[in-house]
Amino acid sequence: MSRPAESKPPAGRCSSAWRCRKWTCSHCGPIRAGDEFRKFKGNLTAYGGRIMLVAVTAPGADVLPWEGDLVERRAAWAWNRTASRRFARLLKAAQVVGDRHVRRRGWRGQFPRIVARAWAPQKRGVWHVHLALPAESEIERVWSRTVVQFIYAAQRREATLPAAERQTLLELEYRFGIVTRGFYGWGFVDRKAARRLGHVRGELGALRAAKYLAANVARYLGDNVVGGASGQALPGRSVRSHVSVRLTRTTGVTLRNLRRVRFLHVCLRQGLALPEWPDELLEVVWRLLTAGEAVAVRGP
Ligand SMILES: [Zn+2]
Repeated sequence: MSRPAESKPPAGRCSSAWRCRKWTCSHCGPIRAGDEFRKFKGNLTAYGGRIMLVAVTAPGADVLPWEGDLVERRAAWAWNRTASRRFARLLKAAQVVGDRHVRRRGWRGQFPRIVARAWAPQKRGVWHVHLALPAESEIERVWSRTVVQFIYAAQRREATLPAAERQTLLELEYRFGIVTRGFYGWGFVDRKAARRLGHVRGELGALRAAKYLAANVARYLGDNVVGGASGQALPGRSVRSHVSVRLTRTTGVTLRNLRRVRFLHVCLRQGLALPEWPDELLEVVWRLLTAGEAVAVRGP
């Protein structure tokens, strides 16, 4: 039986002509990982200041019981499905408190914002999130510490509820979309990530932080495959990384633009007509392309 020329190749047969863009693909996974690193690096370098790294994990075995090496399937599924929305609420509330705190201290400028986030699957089959918080100026450090403190306090408060009650609240949101005010269903805050990387003050420079975040986002082969017996990715989250729009607006370093860079590169190499993008976009992509080459030249 002959295969029509335009049909997509079977999984694992991706090439420069066609890409499935899946993390689990041996061709596309590394490309995606490289783009994620460039995205973090470009934007964190543009931020330029010190970064405070923390990781927020899922609740423990009292709420998410184990089944062999993984969290029990049904519980993991339900928790993962609502993880993104619950985390968004948690961050929003934490940032409101952070803003209020620095304003009380007399700050009248623009409020600090989280520099970047990376979602990564834990080996037990549930999501966790790495946050890169701004820590260059005194105001940024005060704000970031308040945000982290809020997340920590929320976890401590919820830990006083019986596990069965927390499971019920999670189930209500998963099945019926019922949101309980002030309940987020997240677990421990790990504030020692940067310290483990050898930084006494628990803060990292842009490049180290970018590497750390990209490595976590790029667990496309190992941990993510553990998410289900079928090798499926964890549910509930397709976008793994997020960088403050304040930064991407300035730098233009987004996954979409990085894909355009590759496209433009092929056009130039093969002498094809340039894509019909608006001048402004072409200019940004061109700048990223030439900057990428400059970086490569300096490589080993
Ligand atoms: Zn692929």
